[in-house]
Parts: sequence; structure tokens; C-alpha cells
Amino acid sequence: DFGETITADMIDDLALKHFPLCMRNLHDRLRKDRHLKHFGRLQYTLFLKALGVSVEEAVVFWRKAYGGTMTDDKFNKEYKYNIRHSYGLEGKRANYPAKSCQTILTSNQPGPTESHGCPFRHFSPDNLQLTLSATFGIPAAEQTEIMAAVKGQHYHIACTRVFELTHAKYGVKKGEGLGTANGATETVSHPNRYAARSRELEKE
Ligand code: SF4
Repeated sequence: DFGETITADMIDDLALKHFPLCMRNLHDRLRKDRHLKHFGRLQYTLFLKALGVSVEEAVVFWRKAYGGTMTDDKFNKEYKYNIRHSYGLEGKRANYPAKSCQTILTSNQPGPTESHGCPFRHFSPDNLQLTLSATFGIPAAEQTEIMAAVKGQHYHIACTRVFELTHAKYGVKKGEGLGTANGATETVSHPNRYAARSRELEKE
């Protein structure tokens, strides 16, 4: 996690600066629709948990996000339970880990009205290109290479390239990925690692 306390009202700013496209998409959909379907809520809740958002703050975050779209009673009965369940506080009390890219790419394929999954894999090419422009301001010229990686089903390479471009302001260069260790370049393999590295770069 970020090694710091993250409150519900910090999440908008963190999403803007540090979240990979899968989580940014869920965040933006939630803000736009004031709703996410089950697997989207699950993917995002577990990500936020691993980021360091406490269960209390998660409940505040989701309650505010739904706002007037539901009553407190409905929220407490149907949604709060699921949040607490994701934190291992209800039901089986399992400590569910945040989903890795591999899990997101291969399990629970999203239907047309769902927002979970990996946009590099699950968006149509047209929608992905529009989203890359709108979300990260990535110009068309830079998208050719990203779309080629997507076409070759190298989704994590496409995501790594987006990381490089959106962190160029911190001096990250093409081919450097999330950093290098023992001569190897680290590519994106987990949304939480992406966010943590992004936060580190901002602080360095
Ligand atoms: Fe998220 Fe991983 Fe896809 Fe990047 S490659 S958008 S981190 S699932």
C-alpha cells in the first residue's frame, strides 16, 4: 500500500494522479453513473483496500458515491455488507487479496454493461483510443505503438507504455517501465504496484 492513511476524500485526487486505466475507468464510471455493478465494485474495493483505505473510510467513500440514488437502509443492508465482506469482516472472513492483472485479464469477463476488467483487453479498439485521449491526454501519434501491443495481446506492455508516457514529467523514459532492478525492466503486473510506483515517483 501507500504506507499512509488514505481517507475517502483523498481518492479523487489519487485516482487522477496515480491509478492505472482499469481503476481510473471504474472510478470515472462510479462518478458518472453513481453506481457500479457487482464485479466492478469488487475489483475497485479490493484495490482501494490494498492501497490502504480502511473499512470505515471505504464505507464513507461508497456511501457518498451512491448519494441520493439509494436510501441509507438499502445501502446498509446490501452494500455495506459487501464492503465489509471484501475486508474479511463478514461471511467466511477470508482475507481477499487485490486482483492482479493476470486475474483481471482472465477471470469474470465483463459484459457490455459492466465496467470491470482491463480496458486494454476488454474495450473495443476505438473506445480504448478515445479513452486514452480523454483520460490521459495521450496523443494519436503515441497511440500507434500502444494499439500494436494491444493487437498482439500484450496488454501489460500497452499499460506499461501508458505508465511511461504519463510519468514522463518525473523523468521516466521510454523503455524504463516502472523502473529497473538487476538490469531488468519492470512492467505492469498489478494495479496496486502501478499506483504505488506512481506515488513514489511523485514523492521522489
Ligand atoms: Fe489494470 Fe493491469 Fe490492465 Fe493495466 S494491465 S489496466 S494495471 S489490469
